[in-house]
Order: sequence, then C-alpha cells, then structure tokens
Amino acid sequence: MVEKAAAPAEKLVGIKGMNDILPPDSARWELLESHVRSVMRGYGFENIRTPIVEPTPLFVRGLGEVTDVVEKEMYSFTDKLNGEALTLRPENTAGVVRAVVEHSLLYNGGRRLYYMGPMFRHERPQRGRYRQFHQIGAEALGFGGPEVDAEVILMASALWKKLGLEGIELQLNSLGQPAERNQHRAALIAYFEQHMDVLDEEAKRRLHLNPLRLLDSKNPAMQAIIEKAPQLLDYLGDASRQHFETVQSILAANGVTATVNPRLVRGLDYYNLTVFEFVTTRLGSQGTVCAGGRYDYLIEQIGGKPAPAVGWAMGVERVLELLKEQELLQVQPQLDAYAVVTNVQFFPQVSACLQALRASGVSVQMQASGPEGMPSLKSQFKRADGSGARFALIFGDDEVAQGCVALKPLRGDGEQLRLPLTGVASWAARLQSPPTV
Ligand code: ATP
Ligand code: MG
Repeated sequence: MVEKAAAPAEKLVGIKGMNDILPPDSARWELLESHVRSVMRGYGFENIRTPIVEPTPLFVRGLGEVTDVVEKEMYSFTDKLNGEALTLRPENTAGVVRAVVEHSLLYNGGRRLYYMGPMFRHERPQRGRYRQFHQIGAEALGFGGPEVDAEVILMASALWKKLGLEGIELQLNSLGQPAERNQHRAALIAYFEQHMDVLDEEAKRRLHLNPLRLLDSKNPAMQAIIEKAPQLLDYLGDASRQHFETVQSILAANGVTATVNPRLVRGLDYYNLTVFEFVTTRLGSQGTVCAGGRYDYLIEQIGGKPAPAVGWAMGVERVLELLKEQELLQVQPQLDAYAVVTNVQFFPQVSACLQALRASGVSVQMQASGPEGMPSLKSQFKRADGSGARFALIFGDDEVAQGCVALKPLRGDGEQLRLPLTGVASWAARLQSPPTV
C-alpha cells in the first residue's frame, strides 16, 4: 500500500535579532574565546558561569529603574508554575555579584572573575545591535584601589594587542562618589531647567529622575546646551581626583593612551569613580566595543557586605566585526585528513584505524555511506577537497585487501604512499598540521 505523502510542515524560523552562529564563522568565535582565556589567565582571572535567567528584581535593583535596559529592553516574564518574575539576563555583572554574595566568594579577600555568554535586550536589531548578543566580561570584586581599575583596562588593551586590532580609542571619565554626584546633579538640574525649551520629551522626563543621563543624549538639537552643562569633573573632591589621576598615570606608564571624555556617563546606574569605553569609528554608529567602570555600591545594593568592584564587558559581535574588517583572526581549515572508503564492509577496520589516528592527535573526518552505500570515488574526492583536509586517506579495495591505506596529499604536490593499517602510531605524526601561528 502506498501512503500519501503528508503536506510538508511549515518552516520555522528563528527570532528576529537572534542569530545562529554557523561554521566557518563559529570557528572565529572559538578562536577569539581561546585568546580571551589566555589573556584572562595572564592576569589571574577565573571563569564564572551564572544562569541566563535571573529574578527580575536583581536587574531592577542592580541596574537602576531609570535606565534604557530596565525601562524598555528586558525580556521579562512570569514563571507559569510559581508566578515568579523572571528576566533573561540583559548583562552579567548583576548576576556575577549575586553569585559572589550568595556563595560568600569575598570571605577571604578579592576575586577576579570573567564570563562569556549570551545576553538579551529587546532593541531594534541593526548592525552591531542584536536581541541576543554576546558579552565577554571581567569583574574584579573586593578591590578598591585605582591600580585595579588600571589593571582591568590594561587587560582589555592587551587583548586588542594580542588580536592585532587597531583603531580602538580608550575614553575615560570619573563619575566621582555619590555625594559629589549629588552636588553636580543639583547644578545640572538647575542648568537644564533654564533650557527647558530645548529639551526633548525623554530629557524632560529624566531631568529629575536621572539628569546625568541627559549628557548621554544623542539628540542633535540638545548638543549645544549639553556642551556647556556643568561638568562632573569640576565637582570631584581630592580623593576622587587622586583616584582618577592614579588610574591615568598607571595607564601612561604602560603606554596606553586615554582620552578624558567628561560626557562619558554610561547607561547603567551602578557606576562610580572610573568609567571607560573602548570606541572605534570603524563600525558605524555602534562603535563601543567594550565598556565598564567601577561599581563600589552594587554589592551592597544586592544585599552583600559592602565591597568595592570594577569591571568591563565587551560586545563579542562588534569585536568580531572589527576583526573581520581588519582581516584578522582568519581561521584555516583544521582538518588533517579525510577518509575515503570504497566499501561499507571496511568500516570496522576503517574506524579502528581512524580511532588510533585521533588518539595520536590527528584530526580526520570520515566519509559516511548514503542510501545506496558508498558514494562514487569521484564524489568522495570532491568532498575530501572541499573539507580543506591536507590528505586523503584512501581505504580502497586493493589497499584494504593488503592491510594498507593509501595516503594522498590533497594540497601541493607530493607522492601517494601506502601505509600499514597496523602500527598507525608509527606514521600518525606525518599527517599532523604544522602548529598554526
Ligand atoms: P549601547 O550604547 O551601544 O547601547 P550599552 O551602553 O547599552 O551600549 P553595555 O551595557 O555597556 O552597552 O554593554 C557593553 C557592551 O556590550 C557594549 O559596549 C556593546 O559592545 C555590547 N552591546 C550592548 N548591547 C548590545 C546589543 N544589543 N547588541 C550587540 N552588542 C551589544
Ligand atoms: Mg544599550
């Protein structure tokens, strides 16, 4: 009986602004991550992995109610089973701080931690701005001195250097301490109140809630009055000023150029003293590749014993785009060999040989059978070529009958050889690629 074919199911597609990361691009992600791990190791930062979903109040309390993220960008929902208010993390600093407090990680002095992973913000998707995006971040918790601000900045600079990236500028500012900010805030409100006619709706709304954020406005009509607004740097006391100067002198001693940008205020509420951004003009309007600062009051705000902290987060998609633009971090095919097999009956021997090769460190991809057995030799060689492998390992009728495999170079010239199927370890090294630089 012939069954009638069912109508094809409707094709499902992913969510707008949330991207699949496919090979060969995913290999560039892995390579970037491995460079990051090596830099982090160099500074004694340890990896931390916190959940992607957190209780909503963590972000509302942690990031501040009057911020873009909390006001309009969070993916929040109610857990159907127990009614809990939950949010897909829009950033990871609050989660790291929660974990550090929950597990008392600061009982014995400071901790240096780093993370990598997806974050979620409901923004308008565009180049360099997605709804699921990825951050790599570093947090130094329990350290109050300016040398640690400088250390995390130097670490990011070291990463750009290791990757060969150019055209990234470091901008720096100090937000001072809350008391200094309050004085500045009062001056700022008084100033903007004299210019109400120029303020847009958002600025008017934020004026009494979070006037510092007005300085961050991109509205061209407001730029002229923003330029002349009272500057926070003029309100810093001696200790804050000293802290800022020390950060700058440590950076200078390490040949890292920083530009002071008095308008740099950062989008989240939890920062104090040093704030910084690494920016580039090469990515259009999404030019900030890494941003951070000191957040000495967040730990206590989340219920921990007061402790200072400083950190940054970088946008992985933006860094990768910058790397692509500069033709850096190009990945070569990783495969040493491709196994061509003429008969399905050979697989017990083939797989034993390939397992032995892999145990010796050779990477080898195996030709699999199709519905009609093994594909033609011609089509197998086409795949072998396309795989980027440097060698084909041919398990042909003659070879297998003689207990051998043929080794054929696929790149450049070189003789085809026959090698014994037993004692693979003695010839495995021939197949391994030279170390990549
Ligand atoms: P922006 O001003 O570009 O919105 P932000 O101040 O909201 O950035 P942070 O919260 O400081 O960003 O996050 C740190 C970094 O993460 C940013 O500098 C950027 O590189 C990256 N980033 C933030 N939001 C996104 C997004 N929606 N898509 C891709 N990368 C992002
Ligand atoms: Mg943003």
